[in-house]
Amino acid sequence: MMSNNWSRDQITDVLVRLEQLAESRLQQLREHRLVSDGGADGLTQAIAETFDFKEPQSTAVLIESVLGLLEAHDLDSTHPRYFGLFNPAALPIGAVADALVAMLNPQVGTRGHAPAAVALEDHALAFFAARIGYDVSRSDAHFTSGGQEANTTAVAVALNHVFPNVAVEGVRALSGQPTLYVSDAAHHSFQKAAKLLGLGVTAVREVASGADGAMSVEALAEAVMRDRNAGALPFLVVGTAGSTGTGSIDQLAQIADVAEREELWFHTDAAWGGGALMSDRLRQLFAGIERADSVTWDAHKWLSVPMGAGMVFFRERADTANVFSVTTGYVPTVGDQGGEPYLRTLQWSRRFIGLKVLMALAQLGLSGYQRMVEHQVEMGDLLRDKLLQSGWQVRKDSALPVVCFEREGVDTEAVVAALHARGQVWVSSIIYPHGASAIRACITSYDVRTADLDALVAELALATDNL
Ligand SMILES: *Cc1c(COP(=O)(O)O)cnc(C)c1O
Repeated sequence: MMSNNWSRDQITDVLVRLEQLAESRLQQLREHRLVSDGGADGLTQAIAETFDFKEPQSTAVLIESVLGLLEAHDLDSTHPRYFGLFNPAALPIGAVADALVAMLNPQVGTRGHAPAAVALEDHALAFFAARIGYDVSRSDAHFTSGGQEANTTAVAVALNHVFPNVAVEGVRALSGQPTLYVSDAAHHSFQKAAKLLGLGVTAVREVASGADGAMSVEALAEAVMRDRNAGALPFLVVGTAGSTGTGSIDQLAQIADVAEREELWFHTDAAWGGGALMSDRLRQLFAGIERADSVTWDAHKWLSVPMGAGMVFFRERADTANVFSVTTGYVPTVGDQGGEPYLRTLQWSRRFIGLKVLMALAQLGLSGYQRMVEHQVEMGDLLRDKLLQSGWQVRKDSALPVVCFEREGVDTEAVVAALHARGQVWVSSIIYPHGASAIRACITSYDVRTADLDALVAELALATDNL
């Protein structure tokens, strides 16, 4: 019989193996292939052969099996030459925190069970709320699984704030279609939210963005007026601070003006871009974010903690309770019920998500984070220079480190496919709302160096020469 309790020897074996893994990842990361040879081929069979679940397996064997499968088949998005979607290299302190969380497994749904864990989360969140520019004596925040949950929460809270009876009677009791406004460069989590909340995707109005990728504020105001005249019920406008495709930033202060005038809830989606708020210089790009009623900011994107660690902020406390409060006979009552996480958030049993965020923040400090994001912005600018020098047309979409580029007569998709096939660097492509496409390279690792940019430019040259 295998015991579920570990012996000292087993613990030592596991820790030694994890130390080797950490060591090899830190020392030889650039020598590892970024794109695995395996891809999805043969995966189902390999997994079936590795895990038939008939007899117990030792922890050591399990670790090797899992590492073997992931290394053979998965893309290593923590690699410094992964210039991909917003999947950062994870700070090692995040892995330490996640292991502690799993071992202690506090129930962060209620303060009665985990007053320290909940208070630690609140302490970290208050720091980020202050970076947004909120008055933390009035604001509210909680950790989420990610940006999707954060944005869905914000849409639900906005809907219930503007139409207080929705929580009781549902949207069917409203006199018209509630509508929300996002730019055509916004993340598609708002479409999902609209479907989930019973609004339907037709409630989402995609306002055209201009040449700089920012939502046209005139088009926004016109759309709101047109919808009102047609009997719809506009309730929410979303500003994107760092779009997923190109890193474009909406004019938040101007959107805040429209929201104020039209009595709309103003949400800012800074899921990735939020990282810029850690720099006194870069946060100027987001002027007006402090006027947002709510903000989404993912720690598992630019703050480089392991997934999933989203955050949602509210300028005023109390709004979340309209959506999430319930009365139970089975959860012990403690003190201020309004402060209970399970009554203020979608999740009930909740992982202690905030520990990895708090520990990363404490280890780096604000100054460390500031250096980290500014380094990545500098690397983005350097990449733009290098691409220009080697004949690429670089689009001016963003001051953030998302770099979109193209070259006349060069097939974007063919270049991207050639790079992926060689497996030395990873980039994606982007199709703009007006149909043009470009190659997209985002600085996602805090450890990117000039040599990595040179490797990318060299790989691009090789790919275009061979087309
Ligand atoms: C990534 C992203 C999201 C979704 O966040 P997840 O953490 O992936 O759920 C939402 N908005 C923007 C702008 C994003 O970049």
